[in-house]
Amino acid sequence: MANTRELTCIVCPKGCPMKVTLEGKEILTIEGFTCPRGKQYAIDECTHPMRTLTSTVRTSGGGVVAVKTDRAIPKELMFDCMQVINKTVATLPVRVGDVLVSNLLDTGANLIVTANQE
Ligand code: SF4
Repeated sequence: MANTRELTCIVCPKGCPMKVTLEGKEILTIEGFTCPRGKQYAIDECTHPMRTLTSTVRTSGGGVVAVKTDRAIPKELMFDCMQVINKTVATLPVRVGDVLVSNLLDTGANLIVTANQE
């Protein structure tokens, strides 16, 4: 039985509304995109959604520092990645771009610092 997903493309600021019809995991139709990047976004979002993860990690100084993955990771790994992040402690000082965890859970993404801290 087919179902419909409504998405807003986030690839550029235009934010085109799209409608995807699926049968199970198979995409039947995609409507609403106005460029190939939007169509690819809809395909990825319905078959293998990816997100950049932003969070904080504890520091050796007792506070926290802002971090993010340096590329998008599979959405289904967010929870497992958060468990790694929650166990990570950044040794101060840290600088923007410092890698705290490389190849986070074999995603190919590094967890990097996004703020300087002494
Ligand atoms: S479909 Fe193309 S034009 Fe529309 S928001 Fe996505 S990237 Fe931008």
